[in-house]
Formats: sequence, structure tokens, C-alpha cells
Amino acid sequence: MSLAAALEMRSGEGAEAILRRATVLDPVAGIEGVHDVVVRDGRIAELAAPGEGRADGAEEVDAEGLHAFPAFFDPHVHLRVPGQEHKEDIETGARAAAAGGYCGVIAMANTEPPVCTPADVEALREAAREAAAVPVGFLATVTKAMAGEELTEMASLRDAGALGFSDDGLPLRSARVLRRALQYQRLCGGTIALHEEDSELSGDGAMHEGPVSAALGLAGIPAVSESTMIARDAALAAYEDARIHVQHLSAAESVEAVRAAKAAGVKISCEASPHHLCLTDEEVRSLDPRRFKMNPPLRSEADRQALIEGLRDGTIDCVATDHAPHAAEEKEVPFEQAAMGVTGLETAFAALHTELVGPGTIELGLLVEKLSAGAAPFDLERPSLTPGSEANVALCDLGAEWVVGEEGYESRSQNSWCAGRTLTGRVVMTLAGGQVAYRLRSFSLGVAA
Ligand SMILES: [Zn+2]
Ligand SMILES: [Zn+2]
Repeated sequence: MSLAAALEMRSGEGAEAILRRATVLDPVAGIEGVHDVVVRDGRIAELAAPGEGRADGAEEVDAEGLHAFPAFFDPHVHLRVPGQEHKEDIETGARAAAAGGYCGVIAMANTEPPVCTPADVEALREAAREAAAVPVGFLATVTKAMAGEELTEMASLRDAGALGFSDDGLPLRSARVLRRALQYQRLCGGTIALHEEDSELSGDGAMHEGPVSAALGLAGIPAVSESTMIARDAALAAYEDARIHVQHLSAAESVEAVRAAKAAGVKISCEASPHHLCLTDEEVRSLDPRRFKMNPPLRSEADRQALIEGLRDGTIDCVATDHAPHAAEEKEVPFEQAAMGVTGLETAFAALHTELVGPGTIELGLLVEKLSAGAAPFDLERPSLTPGSEANVALCDLGAEWVVGEEGYESRSQNSWCAGRTLTGRVVMTLAGGQVAYRLRSFSLGVAA
């Protein structure tokens, strides 16, 4: 099923366009070369020889020198609806996703109140059909009111269209509760996504526990707070023959725990965020919570290297932003008191392209593959440029330099971890769910001769 059919988005015209002479790269489909990407009625009709695609009245986009990738898919964003619309809503969050080259996102359920009932899920799906520029899917919580005690009506939530379940924002403290949830999941389907953290080990930590936290005198969150819970939950998934998806891996020990579980045949997938792949706890010396306070925290260089190795060897399945908008007043306070989380949808590709592909740490193809792989853990169709596929395309100018935040944000919030950074590589146009979802304002559509 296409993303537009499986998720919710605003109804609109199927795109009719030709991306002339685009450098097409879809590593999973094995497509690499210069083509006219012909899009008709919202689908990839043809990858024609450069200059040969027939326009038939479609909009012609001069894509010479630009890269066309399968659009990206983010399985972990916070859209803050219902209850915190001053931070983000479905329209602004989906717009931020489109600006980042995304053709789909999955919204977490830790809203105010949390998404616990079938009516909650139905209301969100209806709102996305009104307002979302890209396909959006919704999770429901695992436990009622995210209290960690009583399971939600998982089967009814699935019937109402919940893609899966997560208490993200909080860990599931009780192994008994998670075990029961995994038993129900076997009956009703739906991926269970886990924020892995031992609250007792994390305590009131504000950053990674290590030499930097010691130097700053800030309470630390040790890496084992995450990795011990992953090991516990992988063991439970194995015991129940159930599936889990581990969110926002941050520590070397966690990569090792997932690697060991995969080797043992556990049905486990996991994600890592751009900020954990690009930054370390050294940034926290600035004491800037707007950009550098999040949970899990930025960790050491050895942890960052372990995440990169996890991307390379397949232990880490996908990149997910954990886009977490916050209002200025929650961030303009001392580091210990500030809210945790940073935005990331608009900068994920550019940041990883700048920090990892630019210096040659990873290949461009691997980045593209991992940015669009987030659909798979939720059994959704992976964006593809193979003819016949729904048009989900990120058109990128790899040479464009831009300063993040200089022209504002599509997101309602400003807490980008990239704020003020100069990045190389920019999304200039996004097709999502078969529709034109985004164009960079300064990107003029030249009619190719
Ligand atoms: Zn989380
Ligand atoms: Zn999150």
C-alpha cells in the first residue's frame, strides 16, 4: 500500500512533473545515473534518458546538477497535538518534514493528554487529512495515561488506525507490563517502539555522565541507563517471539546490545538521530540547552563512532530525528531546568551530509538508504524511485550552503540543534504521497529547453 493510502495527508492533485536531467540515486533499487524523472498522476512513470522525457503539459523542473533521492521517512517525531499547539501542530510539523525532504512521519503519543483511546487516534487522523502536506501516521500509548501500569485497549486502537504503540518520553519501567504488551501485539499487530532508559539510573541527570559532566558539575545520565534496558527488552521480545523497535540509540553499549540481539535472531530494529551521529557531550560546555539538551543526551566521541559503525554494519536500521519542538520559555532557563529535546526535520539530511558524507565518513548512498528506511519497522512501503512507485522524491542541491535559521523555520519552534550552523546540501523540492509538498522559495523552476 502506498504511503498516501496507508497514512493520512491533505487531499490534492497528483503531481505532474518532469525533473529534467536529475542525478538519480536510489541505492536500494540499484538506480544511479542521470535521468529525466517523469512523474504522472502522482507516480513515477518513467526514468527517461536525459532530455528525452515527454512533458505532455507537465511542469518541467530544471534538475541539472541536482540529486533526486527516494524521499526520507521519519518514524519518530513529536507533533505536539493535542495540547501543545503553541510548540507545533500537524500543519507546521508536516511542513517542516516536507522542507526536510520527508515523504512521511510517525507522530509519538506523549501529547497532552496522551493518545490513549480510539477516539484520540481517529481525531488525529482526521486532523492530518485536513492539514498535513506529507503522509502522517500516529502511534497510541502502550499504557493508559502513560502511567506505565495498565495497558491501553491495543486491539481497538489498531482498529482505529494506530500504526503501533509507544510511551516515548518515558520508559516502560515494568518488565511485566512490557511482556503483556508484547503478548497482545502478537494478536493485534503494530510495532512497539521503546524509549529505553532506567529511570533510577538516570535520576535527575541533565547530560551524559562522563568527564564533561564532572567538569561542569552537572548530574549525569550513564550510558548503562539505556543499554541495560535494551538488553532486558530484547530478552523479553525473544521470550515472547515478539517484535520491538528501539528508539534513539545513543551509546556504544546500546549498539552492542542490539547487535548481539540481532545475531541471536531477536526481532529487533532500531534508530539513531542526526544529533547523536554528529555531536558529542563536548557541546554541553556551552551550557546552551536550546541546542544541546535532549534525552537521551549527547554522549562521548566513542559513542558517536559506535553509532556510525552501527549504521555501516546494519545494526542501526534507520535515521530518525526525534523532532521535539519546545517553546522558547522552556529553553531560556538554566541548563538543569530546561526542557529536553531539539527539532530536526528541516536539517537532518543537510546536517548528516555536511558532517558525515562531506568528510568521507560514510557514503552518500548509505545516508540516503538510512534516511528512507524508517518506514520498514512499521511495515510501511519504503519510498522508491522505481517506475510505478508512488512519487516520493527529495530533490537536493548538494552544493548549496545555507545558515540554519537565517530564513526562519517551517516548524513553529526554534530549538534546532543546528541553529546558526552553516550546512552544505539543501532540499529544494519534495514530492510526498504523490503530491508536490515543498519547494524552496529561492528555487526557481526553470523551463528546460
Ligand atoms: Zn524518547
Ligand atoms: Zn521522542
